[in-house]
Amino acid sequence: MYVDSPDIEVIETIQELQKKLNRNERKNTTVGFVPTMGYLHEGHLSLVKHAKEQNDIVVMSIFVNPAQFGPGEDFESYPRDRERDIRLANEAGVDILFIPTVDEMYPADGGVRILPAKQAHELCGASRPGHFDGVLKVVLKLFNIVDPDRSYFGMKDAQQLAIIETFVRDFNLRTVIVRVPIVREEDGLAKSSRNVNLTPSERTEAASIYRALQIGSEMFAAGEIPEAIKQRVSDFIVSNSSGMIDYVEFLTYPGLDPVTDGAQEVILACAVKFSSTRLIDNIIMSTKDGTYVPNDDEQ
Ligand code: AMP
Repeated sequence: MYVDSPDIEVIETIQELQKKLNRNERKNTTVGFVPTMGYLHEGHLSLVKHAKEQNDIVVMSIFVNPAQFGPGEDFESYPRDRERDIRLANEAGVDILFIPTVDEMYPADGGVRILPAKQAHELCGASRPGHFDGVLKVVLKLFNIVDPDRSYFGMKDAQQLAIIETFVRDFNLRTVIVRVPIVREEDGLAKSSRNVNLTPSERTEAASIYRALQIGSEMFAAGEIPEAIKQRVSDFIVSNSSGMIDYVEFLTYPGLDPVTDGAQEVILACAVKFSSTRLIDNIIMSTKDGTYVPNDDEQ
């Protein structure tokens, strides 16, 4: 362990972090945990803000998890900037920053897999086979290492959050999952580490994703059927950007089932591929009156 600044503590080994966060030693202090892949932005820092409000100690992890990237995906080109991340995390008030290497997290692969069920077959799970197996693997490892009282996840990755909530419930994990609203750029684009891999023109066009979702939600409030909404959202993105639609879907939330009359909340979600990066976004709406369920910091 070494101290990079007077405030934040940067830890790179599991053993050291576990020693630090040992429950007998930390007594009644609570730990809020913010897992990330780094290249921090205001979305991540909003998770930290929520964690600070509710806990005595805030632990953030930065780990670009190879297990959740498929062949040909952007593991190599995923943006990384360790020094900037340490500075931003420190400024945001993170107490402990855990930055393990791949070897530290995966010294050997015993072959055990966690297979999430039906929620993982939809949306990103359909276009990224095995992605959520890799997410749950690293999340379980991190939960066991950090042993947090509360763990903070963004609604930007709404499917990931829904699957993790199910995982925690099904396996009686002791952390409480806290949902944090989406933070957006001024033009509506959801903040993402991957936005930096857009070309300047793609960056401008990418604002059409959220605009399309807003149009979709207005159609939903006006009583339009899901097929018409999905078509309009796709058409809008295609005609206003060079992005290719990976999916536009309309499902219940958090169950991710086809929408039926009993559903209370629905998610309109999409993934759009640009030349070297793939972006996701979503809006969650109430079926009662079609209004937004606030999963968005702007609302
Ligand atoms: P990532 O580093 O992209 O894996 O994200 C780490 C955590 O930050 C996840 O829980 C994400 O859902 C959350 N997150 C990422 N972008 C945003 C955003 N724009 N608003 C809110 N949370 C976000």
